[in-house]
Amino acid sequence: MHRHALSPDHLHPRALAIRPYDRGLHDLGNGVFAYLQPNGSWGWSNAGLIVDGDQALLVDTLFDLRLTQSMLEEMRRADRRAQNIGVLVNTHANPDHTNGNSLLTNARVITSRRTAEEMSHEKPEMLAGVMRKAKTSIDPASRYLVECFGAFDFEGIPPSSATETFTGRRSLMVGSKRVELIELGAAHTGGDVVIHVPADRIVYTGDLLFVGGHPVMWAGPVENWIAACEYLLSLDIDYVVPGHGPITDKRGVRAVRDYLVLVREHAREAFRANVPLEQAARQIARELDRTGYADWSDGERILVTVAVIFRQLSDERGPIDVGTLFGAMAKFRG
Ligand SMILES: [Zn+2]
Repeated sequence: MHRHALSPDHLHPRALAIRPYDRGLHDLGNGVFAYLQPNGSWGWSNAGLIVDGDQALLVDTLFDLRLTQSMLEEMRRADRRAQNIGVLVNTHANPDHTNGNSLLTNARVITSRRTAEEMSHEKPEMLAGVMRKAKTSIDPASRYLVECFGAFDFEGIPPSSATETFTGRRSLMVGSKRVELIELGAAHTGGDVVIHVPADRIVYTGDLLFVGGHPVMWAGPVENWIAACEYLLSLDIDYVVPGHGPITDKRGVRAVRDYLVLVREHAREAFRANVPLEQAARQIARELDRTGYADWSDGERILVTVAVIFRQLSDERGPIDVGTLFGAMAKFRG
């Protein structure tokens, strides 16, 4: 039987997109924009721009300075208020959402306290070093890193930091437009934040949503991430800008929620039955394929998500070893 024969079409990335998934700035009207980087795989993140009156707020920067610079130029061409962005909000601390922060020299940088903490531990020069080494190595883990991140330039990126933090919730005004910052982590990372603009019926979710690509859970607990999806579903919104993937609506949120519910159930069963991590991840990947996620990219990420659920179930604490997990994902994909 053809592998996709059982895939419900409604989960296909193209079916979940409400706008063409084209690279660059998308004007959603009334001063709200999304900046998209197809295909949304490792490092190809989205950002957002909200303008009103004479003010502008940027949601996230990109993985390197060149990409962020060209995004800012496109934003300035589209709306003169983007020439002076007064506020940058980082949805979380992953470098594909923060590495361009230094280009916003005059902006207040706002994020959750947990994200600011995680940002202070991100070392751009370390990633640059890892990639320099990977590019001259031929082992599978290095080849995988180059496949994922080889297109980006990590040299000379200054560390990012926040100038203002909050916990829970914070309201801002951009011109006369109210913007709500809502902390919904820990989930994808320790301090995930979403940006909701009630008047424009839009939410920017950062990496609480990957659409058309497997989500990756670095922090958890998974219950929090599922609750974050439920919260997004409770909002009165038409537009959902994910951290990666096309602009979607609540169907994209449901797709990720259902994915996480399925993974949680199967990971719990596998843990109780003492199934080893890699075998459990493969079983769950097959189950996801059967349930309709066969067309979602970056399937090896399931390994990280299941590893974090297993840690949670075995009460392990302390930081996860990202290097080891990338090695395991290389093996999983290979
Ligand atoms: Zn990301």
